[in-house]
Amino acid sequence: MTTDTAAQAAYVVAALLFILSLAGLSQHKTSRSGVVWGIAGMVVALAATVGLASRSITASGLVLIVVATALGAGIGLWRARVVEMTGMPELIAIMHSLVGLAAAFVGWNGYLDVDAELSGSLLGIHHAEVFIGVFIGAVTFTGSVVAYLKLSARINSRPLTLPGKHVLNIGALVAFVGLTVAFVVRPGMGLLIAVTVIALALGAHLVASIGGGDMPVVVSMLNSYSGWAAAASGFLLANNLLIVTGALVGSSGAYLSYIMCKAMNRSFISVIAGGFGTPAASADDDEQGEHREINAEETAELLGNATSVIITPGYGMAVAQAQYPVAELARKLRDRGVEVRFGIHPVAGRLPGHMNVLLAEANVPYDIVLEMDEINDDFAATSVVLVIGANDTVNPAATDNPSSPIAGMPVLHVWEAANVIVFKRSMAAGYAGVQNPLFFRENTQMLFGDARQRVEDILRGLDSLDAPVPEMAATSR
Ligand code: NDP
Repeated sequence: MTTDTAAQAAYVVAALLFILSLAGLSQHKTSRSGVVWGIAGMVVALAATVGLASRSITASGLVLIVVATALGAGIGLWRARVVEMTGMPELIAIMHSLVGLAAAFVGWNGYLDVDAELSGSLLGIHHAEVFIGVFIGAVTFTGSVVAYLKLSARINSRPLTLPGKHVLNIGALVAFVGLTVAFVVRPGMGLLIAVTVIALALGAHLVASIGGGDMPVVVSMLNSYSGWAAAASGFLLANNLLIVTGALVGSSGAYLSYIMCKAMNRSFISVIAGGFGTPAASADDDEQGEHREINAEETAELLGNATSVIITPGYGMAVAQAQYPVAELARKLRDRGVEVRFGIHPVAGRLPGHMNVLLAEANVPYDIVLEMDEINDDFAATSVVLVIGANDTVNPAATDNPSSPIAGMPVLHVWEAANVIVFKRSMAAGYAGVQNPLFFRENTQMLFGDARQRVEDILRGLDSLDAPVPEMAATSR
């Protein structure tokens, strides 16, 4: 078997491993094996690629590949070890930017180093691939950098609303189509520079125009773009595995974006067009009235007397790393005969499945962790809801106030329960920057402070509820 045949066979194996990986990652129980399949696929792919390259490479070229692989693997391992769960979306965004940058470089290289054997229509196709690769890569690059800056709060997450922003976006797309035709007919560096600049500006503008509340869709959308950018590079490099892998990432990212749009009741087209038709997210300064406070001991007492409790966690639970005491609280209450369930909003936290991962990490049984649609009708018959570090995902303005920036987004109907306790540190707004009328409802009480500390206080409160009262013990003797 020649090296080429062996490498192509290895590529097929790697592609199958990537498909198995995606299948595994789609469910909690199989997600670990999904990661292992993915790693195995990447090892096979890298080995086959280096094997292919080694046929025509110099010794110094091989050294460069080894150094680049070691450097990349080292940086990847280091970042994966130190990243906090709450920092995952920005890490993903910056990684997508690297995929985009790489695709743009591959495109430029394809222009500078044209295969001498190409001619006629094949050369035209090559030039179209160069142009499309550079365009998608550059859009992904700047879009991901802006997403990184927004997600890491280095720039304001409010949508940028330039006058005529849709005309600008459509103009950029029309210019891209026109320039592609011109480049295929008569390739030139000026045209390639022009499309690179347009794509860099378009990527930045598309993501800058998207409001804070829609950022989850942006992350998955950039995931999709990075896949198509990789597929475009695959065509240029005549690498089948890169085409297959890019298409897998591109289509799964697009499908995830679609699911997230449905979860947030947003139109897919409007989000990718840059916040089309959505009002700018802004803090609602309307006077909301007074809020009531509760302390941990009182909360423990309320929970001790409850028959059913639903816990709706959000980003604040991740920040406070409160999942362990929360899991302990659920266990203690269940031991006392209280029915405890978790209600998970599809975009709670800062990445899809964020809350599920944290709860699984703290060994909360899967069967008491329910999706929003499974639990939303049960709040009315619930004694106490504990909103732990969630805000936008439990905001009744989404259903009650058509002029709210998050109007129409499905939310957890926590306010229908008899008692709602909201754990947070202040009256500050959530990620979308929208005030939450829930905090001012009659059946809501605020439990201020770090969520982890407050839950630990409640655990102590529950223990003292169970402890015999000293005086009573003395009287009974
Ligand atoms: P929010 O971001 O709306 O609110 C989180 C709340 O947690 C804040 O109000 C904050 O209030 C509180 N908080 C922060 N730290 C602590 C702490 N240590 N202890 C207690 N409370 C704390 O969270 P949700 O999960 O409800 O909503 C997610 C939001 O993020 C949505 O707008 C979603 O669109 C967006 N998003 C989601 C992504 C995803 O894929 N899931 C990706 C990107 C964005 P305070 O400061 O007063 O403590």
